Amino acid sequence: MDIKSVLIANNFHYNKALGQNFITDVNLLDAIVKDAGVTSEDVVVEIGTGAGSLTRALGRVAKRVASFEVDDNLRPVLATTLADLPNVEVVFADVLKMSDEDIKSKVLGPFKVVANLPYYITTQLLMRFVESDLDVTDLTCMIQKEVADRLTAKAGTADYGAVTVAVDAVGYGSILRVVNKNMFFPVPKVDSALYHLRIDREKFDIKDMRLFKKTVRAAFLWRRKTLANNLQSAFSITKSQAEEILIGLGYDPMIRGERLSAEEFVRLSERLKDNA
Ligand code: SAM
Repeated sequence: MDIKSVLIANNFHYNKALGQNFITDVNLLDAIVKDAGVTSEDVVVEIGTGAGSLTRALGRVAKRVASFEVDDNLRPVLATTLADLPNVEVVFADVLKMSDEDIKSKVLGPFKVVANLPYYITTQLLMRFVESDLDVTDLTCMIQKEVADRLTAKAGTADYGAVTVAVDAVGYGSILRVVNKNMFFPVPKVDSALYHLRIDREKFDIKDMRLFKKTVRAAFLWRRKTLANNLQSAFSITKSQAEEILIGLGYDPMIRGERLSAEEFVRLSERLKDNA
């Protein structure tokens, strides 16, 4: 299938605002499917069908693919490029506006997310699935390299932040490969990375997710402030009470939030439950 010719024949214009940087290299597309561990048993959700190149590679291997695309102008292109794959369904919708129920109506049971994500909303789209109650087992997503670095950063480093803790809290993340920007068309400004997250919602026993998120948000609110200072602003406690809680957990009272792992944030949030 020569996808480029189908795009030209349909006089398709790339929409930069929608993060349309397509991949057409067949070797890379097949490598993504392989890296994602997709088998003939799998139901796959793809975010951003584009011209259907990754969708085709997924559809050749997976049991079923539900692919979501916001741009209606791609309808005639996809009618051609995906015509021979009966196990693929394209849903024209904005994923961020869909409820869990809307998504569940398209995929019954557990599924994997595989996507070349639009860059302007990478983190929101990832978090849409990571923080949901959807039965997603794995996410394998092409994202900006710098975002992948943040998602996989170690505690105490400059890249480590609230988003790192959010993914570490519910799974095991890694960078599978770094991909040069010239592999995309139009060519974006920065290189990409294929990021993988294996979801394990039981990884930690997080009793109150709302409180856990509030604790993490507070800890990274002002990176230059100590954790005690940040906690004092977000919770109903004085600075010395915050310091006592930290000492009770075995920390230096001057510690900064960026030094705590996801597991340590779980313990800290439990100690804060009476002050939320
Ligand atoms: N999968 C194709 C590929 O690899 O060539 C296209 C990837 S392109 C980086 C991202 C796609 O996501 C674009 O086709 C864009 O129109 C679509 N998109 C952007 N925002 C979206 C949203 N909120 N919901 C669904 N699709 C979206």
